[in-house]
Amino acid sequence: MRSQTYSHSQLKCVSGRDIVLGQMQDWPLLITKFLDHGEINHPNREIFSMLPEGGEFRYNYAALALRARKCAQGLERLGIKLGDRVGTLAWNTHRHMEIWYGVSGMGAVTHTINPRLFPEQLIYIMNHAEDRLLFLDITFVPLIEKIADELNTVEHFVIMVGKEDMPKTSLKNVICYEDFIEAEDGDYTWPTFDENTACGLCYTSGTTGNPKGVLYSHRSNFLHTLLATSGDTLGINALTTILPIVPMFHANAWGVPYAATASGAKLVLNGPVHDPETLHMLIEREGVTMAAAVPTVWMGLLKFLKATGKNCCKLKMVTIGGSAVPRSMIKTFQDDYGVRVNHAWGMTESSPLGSLGSENGAIQNLSEEAKLDIQCKQGRPVMGVEMCVKNDDGEMLPRDGESSGRLMIKGPWVIDKYFKADGGEILDEDGWFDTGDVSCMDQYGYMQITDRAKDVIKSGGEWISSIDLENAAVGHPAVAEAAVIGVYHPKWDERPLMVIVEEEGESIDHAEMNAYLTGKVAKWWLPDDLQKVDDLPHTATGKISKKDLRDVFKDYRFPDA
Ligand code: AMP
Repeated sequence: MRSQTYSHSQLKCVSGRDIVLGQMQDWPLLITKFLDHGEINHPNREIFSMLPEGGEFRYNYAALALRARKCAQGLERLGIKLGDRVGTLAWNTHRHMEIWYGVSGMGAVTHTINPRLFPEQLIYIMNHAEDRLLFLDITFVPLIEKIADELNTVEHFVIMVGKEDMPKTSLKNVICYEDFIEAEDGDYTWPTFDENTACGLCYTSGTTGNPKGVLYSHRSNFLHTLLATSGDTLGINALTTILPIVPMFHANAWGVPYAATASGAKLVLNGPVHDPETLHMLIEREGVTMAAAVPTVWMGLLKFLKATGKNCCKLKMVTIGGSAVPRSMIKTFQDDYGVRVNHAWGMTESSPLGSLGSENGAIQNLSEEAKLDIQCKQGRPVMGVEMCVKNDDGEMLPRDGESSGRLMIKGPWVIDKYFKADGGEILDEDGWFDTGDVSCMDQYGYMQITDRAKDVIKSGGEWISSIDLENAAVGHPAVAEAAVIGVYHPKWDERPLMVIVEEEGESIDHAEMNAYLTGKVAKWWLPDDLQKVDDLPHTATGKISKKDLRDVFKDYRFPDA
């Protein structure tokens, strides 16, 4: 049941008195407050950035704040107004930071676009968002040239380089970013408006139908940032040096760029560079203490460390999410390199932090092995996100570590409705948002994802977790990547088919795989077959695309079925 909500006027009636509201200052929670804070209190703290046009750049929070104001002035000069959407097609760079703050700060909406989407999806979302202006890195000029004629609302293209790097382009109404900034003086005061004003827009890369827009508010981003700086979650603080490898176009880079500004952390931005060697160089040279990325990035880095015998001396913690983190990865980071793994769960619709794997009092005295088991789970709900698991009848299931159902969430940085109400009413009658993940919660408060609802394998009426099988499989040294899908079976309806990419020079067959998995998963979960491929299909956010994999194996039948 939804709880009773009182309006201001009802409150007066209930109390019979005039003053029942608190009497503290009404200071709207706007993201420009982070920028002001950074500029005043951490002016010289460094921001480092790799550049898409080549080279590196270094400045500080005072310079970021000044250039963000210039960006806002430039936007006003071009006629951008409160509520207008402004697109960015850009890597994690200092310029992208300036634009983030400049656009949202002047009251428009920063629409971060994932360049890994198909061109048709890019056209769809830019038209759907009605982006009036597009900031783009030089990397993406050829991509946008191909589709520019189909972008119905974009009036200007601002290429994020200096004059000397401006490319020749067929795009019309093109502006050079550094000219755009240099034309302004920065004498600008951030406007004040309602904290519920839209701040950012990010489309989910839905596996079916068109992508849907998630519209963050200043308030939701502000509260999410306070959470990200809390010691119980990411714990970003003034002494942190953070490398958010997760892109700013993927759920706000998990909130890290806001949290870094709000706390005065040194920010290291890797631009378009994702190869393990350069990431390692950045971590070592810039003294990175904390970094955030999806498991595939860390897989590459760990392989590099093993091959070269190198270390990550200052790195203390990595936050890993977006897909399940295999046990072997957690163990290697912690045992071999002394880097704590913070396993996080979230989604675009939850801004994205929903749960994180830091230790709580209930597990403090468990054995190291038992703690490792818990670290493989997706963490415990953060303060501000309520979480429960419901069965198909909408009943809440107990936190017993076994009862599995749909993961439901609510909270002030959880979606209420999609942009332009796509998909209609998305909350259940009690106000819970259905994440589409199948999970269970344990007695210690930790949540475990067993599958996406649409990926779960139903064998003889029982569920098999493809995620558990995949995580166990990648622990084998011959396996680079693994995916498990349900395939039709005449007796059991569905049985698991494991598809793997082998490590170079290594090999494993079905029998060896099942022998390896025995004892790690239930016996009746063992895959009925193992297929090898050169590459697994991935989505625009780097997850294995089970939908595409199912398409590849749609005519596959088990040998003995
Ligand atoms: P996105 O909106 O692209 O960030 O995708 C969100 C989805 O990624 C979630 O609903 C989960 O299915 C998946 N996901 C995120 N974090 C994890 C995690 N730690 N383990 C397993 N799946 C995850």
